[in-house]
Amino acid sequence: MTPDNQSSDPTGVAVKTVELTDPGGTIRGQVQVDTGPMRLAELVPTAIELTMVLSTRANQREEKQGKAISCAAGCGACCRQLVPVSPPEAFWLADVIRSLPNERRDVVMSRFNHIADDVEQRGMVEDMYNPPPTDEPILEISKKYFLLGMPCPFLEDESCSIHPYRPVACREYNVTSPADWCAEPYNHDIEKVPMPMPLSLPLTRLTSSLVGSHVPLVPLSLVPQWVEENAELGQRTWPGLELFNKFIEFLGTARQR
Ligand code: SF4
Repeated sequence: MTPDNQSSDPTGVAVKTVELTDPGGTIRGQVQVDTGPMRLAELVPTAIELTMVLSTRANQREEKQGKAISCAAGCGACCRQLVPVSPPEAFWLADVIRSLPNERRDVVMSRFNHIADDVEQRGMVEDMYNPPPTDEPILEISKKYFLLGMPCPFLEDESCSIHPYRPVACREYNVTSPADWCAEPYNHDIEKVPMPMPLSLPLTRLTSSLVGSHVPLVPLSLVPQWVEENAELGQRTWPGLELFNKFIEFLGTARQR
């Protein structure tokens, strides 16, 4: 650790150099870390930054092989899937919802509530959190959820209304197969761009390690309910550098200096 990484930094911000290794080699970049008390949600901007770097490189690798990325603005076909988000992202998305103007927030929350009631009545909630193990490549609950045809509460005119704040899983989902196949993913072999390091997993494992018990990935469409049930965890803080260092530890192939 270099001297400007010390938590005693009087500015309250430390600059950390992070090295990530993916199939394209090693990337080195600097991120700013708040040295004061930090909530889990506050780790998300760093995870998003790293995801964008990795996702851009993964897309470039595909393009070098002559495969064009088919995803484009206005195509929300994948936004009816069961999207898993890490607990820190769930808290982050709840912050995003809270920051919306009242009228807009009411609309978005009524969509969330509609989905929550629907899946509750269908008895799907438990499987959405803890999908039964299977040898099949596609989880039964994912298919069941998709076939309900319920758009993500943030989807507007087939575009993401929270695009700058969308979770890691949405950023990692890019395809090279025809875009219209995504509307019928179970009738086609969708060619997803492989991501070397899906970042929602280390964020989830980090949360489990901090609370000392298993914390599941949260289905995006159940975020408000989950956050309400875990409000205390959402407000808990850790020293910023400690939280950041642990996150990097859980990233595994990433290093920091
Ligand atoms: S958050 Fe945005 S990109 Fe992700 S599923 Fe919802 S509408 Fe689609």
